[in-house]
Amino acid sequence: MKFYSTNNSAHQVNLAEAVIKGLAPDQGLYMPTEIPVLSEDLLNKLPEMTFQEIGYEVIGALFSSTLSQDQIKELVDHTLTFDAPLVKVEDDVYSLELFHGPTLAFKDFGARFCSKLMSMLMEKSDRTVRVLVATSGDTGSAVANGFLGVDGVEVIILFPKGKVSELQEKQFTTLGQNITALEIDGVFDDCQKLVKEAFLDKDLNEKLLLTSANSINVARWIPQCLYYFYAFSRLPKNGKKVAFAVPSGNFGNIAAGILAQRMGLPIDQFVAATNVNKVVPDYLNGAKFAAMASIATISNSMDVGNPSNFPRLLALYDNDEKTLKNNVKGYFYSDQETEVAMQKVKKAGYTMDPHGAVGYLGLSDFMAENSDYQGVFLETAHPGKFRETVERALDLKLELPERLAAFMDGKKKVEAMGNDFKEFKGYLKGLF
Ligand SMILES: *Cc1c(COP(=O)(O)O)cnc(C)c1O
Repeated sequence: MKFYSTNNSAHQVNLAEAVIKGLAPDQGLYMPTEIPVLSEDLLNKLPEMTFQEIGYEVIGALFSSTLSQDQIKELVDHTLTFDAPLVKVEDDVYSLELFHGPTLAFKDFGARFCSKLMSMLMEKSDRTVRVLVATSGDTGSAVANGFLGVDGVEVIILFPKGKVSELQEKQFTTLGQNITALEIDGVFDDCQKLVKEAFLDKDLNEKLLLTSANSINVARWIPQCLYYFYAFSRLPKNGKKVAFAVPSGNFGNIAAGILAQRMGLPIDQFVAATNVNKVVPDYLNGAKFAAMASIATISNSMDVGNPSNFPRLLALYDNDEKTLKNNVKGYFYSDQETEVAMQKVKKAGYTMDPHGAVGYLGLSDFMAENSDYQGVFLETAHPGKFRETVERALDLKLELPERLAAFMDGKKKVEAMGNDFKEFKGYLKGLF
């Protein structure tokens, strides 16, 4: 399988290059040149298959020209070590719980796959890969924990000072070993910009093997399609059309759902739900795509003003904006609306985190206008990860899951830095 750059379809590279480079030299995102379509026969068998078996088939269809059967099995087994239960919340409304991994957020799927694939691709090299990650919270913890102790890979995490919850911070600032955390005096978009600049810097790239593990990396992005296949296969077969609502920030997760659709999974409709960082819903509702400065919200892992995977949405629909806008409906919500939804659903017996609640709201609004659907919203984080918000909004005390509680005992260790590229570059040069 080859990958092309969304900025130049003639620029094509193999899997190893796409994964190690992360971003194409022209700043485009890598996309598979061909998207395999699964057979009708296989799609019909999904309900009887386990999550892992589905993983072997889907990853096999995508990567069997590059990886051996054994490697594909090893990758999937390393990634899918936890379940993604589909929980009924209301009639025809299901929560896909993606938070049963080590850091209790859906990013564990992509991070585990990515770390395993990178170490496979680097096995025969004696160079050190430096993974640069900008995070608004969950990416940092998932990537740090996914890569912890992996040979030949060092992870450098950039996070905005004071904009990440204490518990999130603890999950990537206390690990040590091959994980370094840089506390940036700025917002998430500054962190993202510093990382992008480093990838484009000639000096640095001559000396260092820099890569990304953000959702722009195909190794993070692609495996996320797996749980769409799995969730779809677990829905009742009742003749209703299927909608997936995805609480979105950088739009990697929803783009992976659209990839599953392009591979033949008959998802009828996507709902892109955001907080007030609503660049994409505005675009889907007819405005021009216009990046903006990010705004802080209670669903802070989605506080993204310039969603980096947006070009993938267009590419997945062959740059046909009309089809994209028909197939993906955009909705956005204030913090207050989010809290009201959390309270309403809690009364019905289900606790949502603020991100999942945004997805739930999008799905509810879509289904109110469209009959004959059953829908799934992606519950992207455990409510305990956003404990303060959830406890305040729902007026209750949450049990912190043991895995999370254990992080709180660790000691925070960071390097403080401004949001100026010169300073960051100086730091990286210190690694030559
Ligand atoms: C990262 C994140 C999102 C947004 O996912 P994207 O792929 O960036 O759209 C949503 N919810 C949670 C909890 C996250 O950590």
